[in-house]
Amino acid sequence: MLAGNMQLMADPVDSGIGMTSRRTRERLIQRLSDAGIQSQEVLQVMRHLPRHLFVDEALASRAYEDSALPIGRGQTISQPYTVALMTQALFEHCRPDTVLEVGTGSGFQTAVLASLVRRVYSVERVCELLERAQQRLGSLKMRNIRFRHGDGAEGWREYAPFQGIMVTAAPRGVPRMLAEQLAPGGAMVMPVGEGGQQMLVRVVRGADGFEQEILDSVSFVPLLTGVA
Ligand code: SAH
Repeated sequence: MLAGNMQLMADPVDSGIGMTSRRTRERLIQRLSDAGIQSQEVLQVMRHLPRHLFVDEALASRAYEDSALPIGRGQTISQPYTVALMTQALFEHCRPDTVLEVGTGSGFQTAVLASLVRRVYSVERVCELLERAQQRLGSLKMRNIRFRHGDGAEGWREYAPFQGIMVTAAPRGVPRMLAEQLAPGGAMVMPVGEGGQQMLVRVVRGADGFEQEILDSVSFVPLLTGVA
């Protein structure tokens, strides 16, 4: 079952033309499916989200390619395949009611999560990116998201624990404060490592502690400290 936002998201699908048309989007979904994304729920959400609204207008024609694109301040909107893979990995393990996202960036991954769970808590260290993402998600009427300008490695204590945590920038190792804010039975998906050597890991909090599983090799911008 999808959260309420899917109804609201249905309209923009038909408004795209040319490179943002329904057919262009469908090609991307087919590609994600061919690449091994099996969650119909995730594919369905991504089919309806207008990714071209999450990048600069000059890049809108490339929004439905399966690639990361620049969003300013040296950051990127993640590749659609990676967004789908991470979301699927988070949901495979449990059905989170609340998710903490670290690294709002463009807000696209935030929108995917907000379409699937009751509430998303999203932390971004770059004020300018956060404000832009907030505007986009507001204009898409996605209201089940709380935003914070801060260092996401510290999590968001006020609303912890979270059943799901997703980190979209790579720390060198799993930040302890984030692991501590994971609810028992909850799962956390994040890239870990430096440069081209990162691994996508899933950390699950069991009754006796944490279990870590390596899912894939990935390439993310680094998780930085402090705010900007
Ligand atoms: N999911 C985003 C990915 C953006 S790139 C998208 O698809 O658009 C990673 C983001 O993490 C950047 O916006 C960067 O500013 C942010 N980031 C890096 N370190 C951070 C930290 N410690 N706390 C919060 N955000 C951080």
